[in-house]
Amino acid sequence: MRGIKKKISLIAALILLCFVVQADAKQSDFYGQVNKFTVYGYCACKKCCGKTDGITYTETKAMQDRTIAVDQNSIPLGSTVLIYYENSLVGIYQAEDIGADIKGDKIDMYFDSHSDANDWGVRECEVIIVDAKG
Ligand SMILES: [Zn+2]
Repeated sequence: MRGIKKKISLIAALILLCFVVQADAKQSDFYGQVNKFTVYGYCACKKCCGKTDGITYTETKAMQDRTIAVDQNSIPLGSTVLIYYENSLVGIYQAEDIGADIKGDKIDMYFDSHSDANDWGVRECEVIIVDAKG
């Protein structure tokens, strides 16, 4: 009897796992692969955001080396995202903001200062979503 119960719970766990994996795959077409994104720099100034409080769409405080703005249809908010430029890792970022002009394969990367954001400018990057939360 115990053996059967164990088997049933194992099968139930496997079925559950399948659903979880499927749900994850549905969250983003870009999940788990290397994707080309155009990455823009932005800061918390009026010019970049139209406001200056530095609070993201998900109500976190925007932080350099962590915050990126994304199109939720491409990268679900809350996702952990690796960004590479010219084959080297720029950093590990959190999708916690959105932007009016950030659609599809575009990402806005947060910087503390406007001049640093300008220095970054616009770059074609390789992006891997390592954890797609939705
Ligand atoms: Zn700015």
